[in-house]
Amino acid sequence: MHEGLQVSIVWIRKDFRLSDNLALHHAAKAGIVLPVFIYNDTASLKMGSVSQWWLHHSLKDLHSSLENKLQVYTGNPEEKLFELATKHNIKHVYFNSSYEPEQLAQDKFIQKSLQNAGIVCEIFHSQLLWDPAKIVTGYGTPYKVYTPFYQNGCLHADAPRFPIAKPEKLVCYNNTQNSISIDALGLLENNTWNEKLSTIWTVGEKAAQDRLKSFIAHGLEGYKENRNIPSLDGTSRLSAYLHFGQISVNQVWYAVHKASAKNIPVQDSSCYLSEIGWREFCYNLLFNFPELPHKNFNAKFDAFPWVYNEEFFTAWKQGNTGIPIVDAGMRELAQTGYMHNRVRMIVASFLIKNLGIDWRLGKDWFWECLVDADLANNSANWQWVAGSGADAAPFFRIFNPVLQGEKFDPHGLYTRKYVPELALMPDKYLYKPWMAPANILKQACVSLGKNYPAPIVELDVSRNKALAAYKSL
Ligand SMILES: Cc1cc2nc3c(=O)[nH]c(=O)nc-3n(C[C@H](O)[C@H](O)[C@H](O)COP(=O)(O)OP(=O)(O)OC[C@H]3O[C@@H](n4cnc5c(N)ncnc54)[C@H](O)[C@@H]3O)c2cc1C
Repeated sequence: MHEGLQVSIVWIRKDFRLSDNLALHHAAKAGIVLPVFIYNDTASLKMGSVSQWWLHHSLKDLHSSLENKLQVYTGNPEEKLFELATKHNIKHVYFNSSYEPEQLAQDKFIQKSLQNAGIVCEIFHSQLLWDPAKIVTGYGTPYKVYTPFYQNGCLHADAPRFPIAKPEKLVCYNNTQNSISIDALGLLENNTWNEKLSTIWTVGEKAAQDRLKSFIAHGLEGYKENRNIPSLDGTSRLSAYLHFGQISVNQVWYAVHKASAKNIPVQDSSCYLSEIGWREFCYNLLFNFPELPHKNFNAKFDAFPWVYNEEFFTAWKQGNTGIPIVDAGMRELAQTGYMHNRVRMIVASFLIKNLGIDWRLGKDWFWECLVDADLANNSANWQWVAGSGADAAPFFRIFNPVLQGEKFDPHGLYTRKYVPELALMPDKYLYKPWMAPANILKQACVSLGKNYPAPIVELDVSRNKALAAYKSL
């Protein structure tokens, strides 16, 4: 059936889509495609439980789009690709690059060893708008500050590639030898998130495109203001789809540009595009500083006197700190696998600065629980809040969770939803129930320390302690 036609392996990684998928596009143009996913159970960085849930459904969605021709394997990708190519006498392997340090090194190695064996191996740049190797300062060094990175580096470089449609003709290789089922990967085994997440998220390429369309139609206008209000559906919620490549960043970029050319105020579209720019910046940092997930970018922080208090850390994870906006955020995360960006900053600041707990522990918890858990974005943002990162918020800028709640969720629509114990608290005391007179607490049916925790730390005292620790550096 396939005689005379080139057969190419397309190694699927974080590009679970048919449209604007360069590796798939080129392989389909050349002939028959053998789409392969390899679950690397030997990788040193394990996926969090929520990411495993998303991955399971991403695989199901792509398998169905490929008329059930996606071949699934476990093991070392290099060995598997080599084995498949040899077995089926395949001379072409295509894949899209990844910019995570471990994978980047692996990709180069795989390309070299396949080529040494006479197999053409083509790697395409498709996860980011701009290749991080190419966005450098006039001195050829990496940018460390966001604004010049985005304005001078990105926006003055060549315009990003225009997205391409899905292959007009896609013929997949008829082979299921040794491929295992998606279920056999066991991604949902003992995964307690399944029930919760299935009612909230629809995973897949179509869902990503629908989400983009709906955001452009209803959310892009007003984004600049609304993106800070956690009770609104004011952001795109595309982060997980971008992470898993159910939508490409080029598709998002050009869709927003198109909308902007029509009727969207430029302040909203440019604000949204600059957030996409932050994603590029985080990847650029990870690309140039591969230790970003583990090591303080600013080495001065290596001497920071972190304290570890199991009780505090557990209260934070469970959303039982007694600080309402922090608890709302942590419970949103536990219930939905997502947390609004404004609240991510507040809970991270509280963990690091009020509880004095090392940012790496918070980063790991987010890694476990977020649908969009992403090595570059997660690491760079935690370091940004900690003050240890590139172009970070200064350490002494400590978010006040009372003022933040009052400013960004003034009537508590978001907070009351996730902290129903405080549903009847008047706005005035919602973010500081410990200040409420006894009769107000009674009317609101709140008994601190009984049906809602008293604050685990005093905000002013812990803030001053953090500042003193910072000064000691
Ligand atoms: C402590 C902390 C941890 C974070 N961890 C992650 C993470 O693991 N994965 C992740 O994708 N984002 C992370 N972020 C960034 C941001 O919170 C999310 O990208 C955003 O909330 C996702 O929602 P959205 O798609 O509706 O965003 P939108 O406001 O619609 O933004 C559009 C896109 O821009 C990108 N983006 C927006 N803000 C940022 C940012 N600050 N940094 C990098 N990219 C950004 C995302 O890809 C996002 O999907 C983190 C932020 C903080 C403060």
